[in-house]
Amino acid sequence: MSDTFFTILYFIFVFAASIIRGVYSKQFKQSREYADKLDGFLTILPVFGMFVFPLIYALTSWLDFANYQLPAWTGWIGAAIFALSLWVLWRSHADLGRFWSVKVEIQEEHKLVTDGIFKHIRHPMYAAHILWGIAQPLLLWNWIAGLSMLVMIFPLYFYRVPIEEGMMAYEFGDEYQHYKERTGRIFPKLRNN
Ligand code: SAH
Repeated sequence: MSDTFFTILYFIFVFAASIIRGVYSKQFKQSREYADKLDGFLTILPVFGMFVFPLIYALTSWLDFANYQLPAWTGWIGAAIFALSLWVLWRSHADLGRFWSVKVEIQEEHKLVTDGIFKHIRHPMYAAHILWGIAQPLLLWNWIAGLSMLVMIFPLYFYRVPIEEGMMAYEFGDEYQHYKERTGRIFPKLRNN
């Protein structure tokens, strides 16, 4: 019954991700918001991708028509990718500290973080969620529950990143421009040229 085993493993990973989030998401101070209503809506979508469809798959037979089978080793690859995603999520929260936010906003005395995992990529937290989305179909063997995270994270990623980078450029000027030249969005730059 390895499909059940990997489904349980999926929810253990989700629980671990929720703990990382919970530990680091406390501070909410005065801030200037840059995001709009559409961004707010797109933020809700991944909740369906990470919780709602996986729970429907695990607890009901409604999605059974879209089930598929995979060899167990692909489940282990999914587990390894999810573990990597959790590590990236943890590092990005640890390095971003109190400047983290669900929204696109600048907090009081906001500083540009360029160290730790942010030294290599500008969007490690979004990268962690994309890795999660890649791991999911290897753990949940169902076309709908498996792909739901990836499908629901991309609209937010593509819509938000230009807004967030525009905000950072506006707030931090040259400092951000130089930081941008040294780093990649979700893949580290191989060479500094
Ligand atoms: N895009 C980043 C952060 C996501 S959290 C990532 O994927 O890891 C979103 C908030 O992080 C934004 O509201 C912004 O204020 C803040 N932020 C993003 N990059 C930052 C940086 N390099 N330094 C400080 N704050 C940053």
